[in-house]
Amino acid sequence: MARYTGPSCRLCRREGMKLYLKGERCYTDKCAIVRRNYAPGQHGQVRRKLSEYGIQLREKQKARRIYGVLERQFRNYFELAERQPGATGENLLRLLERRLDNVVYRMGFASSRNEARQLVSHGHFTVNGRKVNIPSYLVKVGDVIAVKESSKEKPKFKDLAEMAAHRTPPAWLSVDAENMTGKVLAYPSREDIDVPISEHLIVELYSK
Ligand code: SF4
Repeated sequence: MARYTGPSCRLCRREGMKLYLKGERCYTDKCAIVRRNYAPGQHGQVRRKLSEYGIQLREKQKARRIYGVLERQFRNYFELAERQPGATGENLLRLLERRLDNVVYRMGFASSRNEARQLVSHGHFTVNGRKVNIPSYLVKVGDVIAVKESSKEKPKFKDLAEMAAHRTPPAWLSVDAENMTGKVLAYPSREDIDVPISEHLIVELYSK
């Protein structure tokens, strides 16, 4: 699946907020939002009032960028969310949260979703004992996600396990950092999803 390969910080500057796309750097003074908190480009410092459509569009772009999903795939998630029972916006966020790369990030085995995506696509993770290298794989309740046996001895994963041990996973996941595994206990509720997104704006945008 294609992915955005341009500069990450530019995306944060466009949205006017930290999207935490680069891991450790996002928490330092090197963060572009700390240094240049205005939109990229020649007219980035010109303040414009957004139309209703513009506000909805920005919200959708923000969600796409946080989860690292391109437009076509995001639209597919929306259509799937529409077909599910319940509130479409909440269903959409739940689907995005269930992506394997996001779950690896939430478990603390990567410092950003981008890093998680790379680790998954390089085949370092298993789901229920089978290697899965598809970042968009949707986890299910009861799935056990683990670092592949042959990867566990790598210094990189020892560092990541150390990092995971100091992070608190969301309530819908359990993590055993020492054994580099985690389990999906439930699907996330809206309260479990701490991304700064007003999903109703995305629903309004796609309902036009
Ligand atoms: Fe965004 Fe992180 Fe870059 Fe800051 S350092 S602008 S939070 S990607």
